[in-house]
Amino acid sequence: MSDAVSFRGRALVGRELEERCVEITVEAGTVRAIEEVAAQNDCWILPCFFNAHTHIADTIAMDMPVAGSLAELVAPPDGLKHRLLRAAPQDDLVRAMQSTVASMVQAGTAGFADFREGGVEGVHALRQALEGAPCRAIIFGREGGETVADGLGISSVREGVHVEAAVERARALGLPVAIHAGEKDPHDIDAALALEPDLIIHCTHADDRQLRRIAEMGIPIAVCPRSNWTLGIAAGAYHPPLARMLARGCRVVLGTDNAMFVQPDMFREMAFTSLVYRISANEIMTMAVSGSELFCAPFFIEEGCPANFFLLDPMRNNYHFSHDVCTTVVKRVNSCNIIRTILNPATK
Ligand SMILES: [Zn+2]
Repeated sequence: MSDAVSFRGRALVGRELEERCVEITVEAGTVRAIEEVAAQNDCWILPCFFNAHTHIADTIAMDMPVAGSLAELVAPPDGLKHRLLRAAPQDDLVRAMQSTVASMVQAGTAGFADFREGGVEGVHALRQALEGAPCRAIIFGREGGETVADGLGISSVREGVHVEAAVERARALGLPVAIHAGEKDPHDIDAALALEPDLIIHCTHADDRQLRRIAEMGIPIAVCPRSNWTLGIAAGAYHPPLARMLARGCRVVLGTDNAMFVQPDMFREMAFTSLVYRISANEIMTMAVSGSELFCAPFFIEEGCPANFFLLDPMRNNYHFSHDVCTTVVKRVNSCNIIRTILNPATK
């Protein structure tokens, strides 16, 4: 017997996020058909988000009153967060990560790419937290953790000479490499690019030459605007240089960075990005979904793709007056409007 289920509504369809009134049929976790129907305005259907950069274990230090430089707070090996993570009992860490994953799923996120500290044990703790969660996590481990993770995550080339050897070992294992660069200044970006990473995080202070090179090399950039502002390394629309990144042809995806300072909620990240950076809603929503393409089957709503979308009731607020669903979702909507989530993020 067929297990096909259908959903009708105003949907953002395909990679172009084209607004159409459609009936979407899902069978065995896959979008089987998308067919035009008469105008619908009591349900919106939107692709799930992929949070392209997180450190969710930081949840244990949520909103702790702290002060200090970027290095004092988050740089390894002895920045505040690393001391707190080392001191935290494993059970507390797992519970904190479980709770954050549940919050992300509840806010429309079906996948995320996490930098996990703490070596092999750290990666195992995140896997334990993910058991049974309808969410796909791509784990970038370090300090040996990469051998049991999905890739190697490097804090910065400033960590020291061991970075190059770690990248070589990861390459030999066929693992992707992600690296933070250009967070507080542009001076570690060229050295990071020399490692030919598969994903570069931040580029908050990248210059035009570096952006052109990143575009030529085809390396995706994960930007985290609220984190940059929270940590005091951005204070205007030019950092990170989102408009220039897009104009130079860079592939940009959106992340939320440290859960210690920033809630990993893509609605909030999109609204902030829209307000500060003045790029189009379509570009911002694309950045919030397309991280999925880097690591798993894309979350865009397309025939033949795994079904990863959520239904939203625009009648709960004034949203049904919207003339452009994508703009309203980016600028106004929050997770309270989600009425159902269809998740099948497990497919590679
Ligand atoms: Zn980070």
